[in-house]
Amino acid sequence: METINGKQCRASGAEQPVFIGYPNRSAKLADLHISRALPIRERRLVGPWCFLDRFGPVAFTVGKPMNVPPHPHIGLQTVSWLLEGEILHNDSLGSEAIVRPGGVNVMTAGKGISHTEETPGKHSGRLNGVQLWVALPDSARHIVPSFTHVKEVPAVETRGGMIQVFAGTKNGATSPAPYYSAIIGLDVQIHPGSTFELDLDPSYEHALLVLSGGCDFEKNGLKEQVLYYLGTCRSSLALTSQSGSRVILIGGQPFPETILMWWNFVARTPAELSQARADWEAHRRFGEIPGEHGDRLAAPDLLRFAHPNPAS
Ligand code: MN
Repeated sequence: METINGKQCRASGAEQPVFIGYPNRSAKLADLHISRALPIRERRLVGPWCFLDRFGPVAFTVGKPMNVPPHPHIGLQTVSWLLEGEILHNDSLGSEAIVRPGGVNVMTAGKGISHTEETPGKHSGRLNGVQLWVALPDSARHIVPSFTHVKEVPAVETRGGMIQVFAGTKNGATSPAPYYSAIIGLDVQIHPGSTFELDLDPSYEHALLVLSGGCDFEKNGLKEQVLYYLGTCRSSLALTSQSGSRVILIGGQPFPETILMWWNFVARTPAELSQARADWEAHRRFGEIPGEHGDRLAAPDLLRFAHPNPAS
């Protein structure tokens, strides 16, 4: 009898355009305050996107605001996107890369990987960004892990603004990072006093998260720390801003599989989750990160914490 209680998630994929605001939750990642937009009770997925953390902006002179010790992942990709500052990534494949604004780090966990994320010793004293997770489809979730650092994703001027494409393809620009489902991930900058317009794939569901500034969607004022779910069947998007604004747009075809999320794992069955937990605790499967001899994150207890806080 499996006792692990992962969270079942399925993209419900509203079959029409909707407009629903879901307030973010507050969370902590070590000492860093996080605003968690996904997952939330009412909406576990937007396309294959299953996790969205917003952190910063913070300014610092001492210490490391980002300092996540070695921890494992399975069945997902992590996508790190910054507006300010830098994060150093190291993983059990031996990858080492500093992501900065305009670039993206995409780690494909597949059957298992471990990594650290930290503010590098040489830094700007600023940190401001997001980390997202993408659920891997069944056909890709057991693949060999990989890591892709993109120094600069494509940026395209559009009507009323500019987009940076960190996932998928939009307006002829394609993110160089690998993805395994129909997906879109954009950083949208709306020029001051402008209406930004973009064509959407109506087979996708989409959601918006305001990063800075104020903007309006269909005469609704959008606020920070709220995930706005837009449903499917939209062929265009218009956002108006007086002062200028920056927004994350995520989307994809409604994910056709039911996933189980627990801690840093995305799986399908409780047995898979409990095996991954046991493997991490036994130092199997996830490898070691070169040069890391310090503390690693211990997996939470299976019984006592039904929904442990992910390390991201
Ligand atoms: Mn992680």
